[in-house]
Amino acid sequence: MGKHTCLPTSNSLPTGCAAKSVVVFTGAGISTESGIPDFRSPGGVWSKYRTVYFDEFCRSAQARHEYWEQKTEAHVAFAAAEPNIGHQTIAKWEEKGKVRGVITQNIDGLHQIAGSQDVLELHGTAREVTCLDCDWRAPVDPLVVQFRETNEVPLCPECGDGRLKHATVSFGQVLPEETLNRAHQWCLEADLIITVGSSLVVYPAAGLPEAGKRSGGKLVLINRDETGLDMIADMLIPGSCGEALAAIDAAL
Ligand code: NAD
Ligand code: ZN
Repeated sequence: MGKHTCLPTSNSLPTGCAAKSVVVFTGAGISTESGIPDFRSPGGVWSKYRTVYFDEFCRSAQARHEYWEQKTEAHVAFAAAEPNIGHQTIAKWEEKGKVRGVITQNIDGLHQIAGSQDVLELHGTAREVTCLDCDWRAPVDPLVVQFRETNEVPLCPECGDGRLKHATVSFGQVLPEETLNRAHQWCLEADLIITVGSSLVVYPAAGLPEAGKRSGGKLVLINRDETGLDMIADMLIPGSCGEALAAIDAAL
């Protein structure tokens, strides 16, 4: 493999360089230890249903109903989930000034619940609902309850009949530009990027750590399986996200 695969013992976060700007980039794999299946787990809600694309959602009431059914089922896992040692360790590092913040592909909100302050959610959040017609936003829970009870897609109380959608980025929907730009800037300025629990095959998100590496940052990958960026990484740490982060923390 030609990479370091052991845990570091340096005084800075992994790699041995005295990193000044450290960014953590996370994917679904950090939350599997909190009971939320990742994208590719067999039997998970993601593999059970077909994808409702954004344009379908916009134009078809039937597609909106299908979407709400899927999201309501997925909500059960989200609502019950609590941050694990991985989320907690990252939050602790931010509090101590060791990391600048977290860029996440996750929509589960567990970084914030763990205490992370500066979190860039590239794919939005499943903890809120937004109106596509007037931008009204609200917490998701009461609307999921309403859908479960009535089996009818809730309409926007602000503009009357606006289309309500979870505040996540669907397939075919553009990523929030400002968030993406900030994340890109963080990666360009980082001298160390630690990615945790991401297959790094979903673009444009995966392009961020790649851009950071190409502009001179070190890249450390923590993941159970191979990723799309193994070839360019400075260090691969295979295995459990939670165990790896806790071990790094203990070594600091
Ligand atoms: P992914 O499913 O493509 O990859 C997750 C990676 O994490 C896999 O390579 C897997 O081997 C690894 N992994 C899983 N559990 C692990 C563990 N405990 N320890 C170490 N490695 C582990 O996820 P992705 O790269 O984030 O991309 C999937 C897309 O799906 C994202 O866009 C994301 O928005 C969405 N998604 C989000 C959630 C969530 O918010 N928790 C859950 C599922 C999917
Ligand atoms: Zn509205």
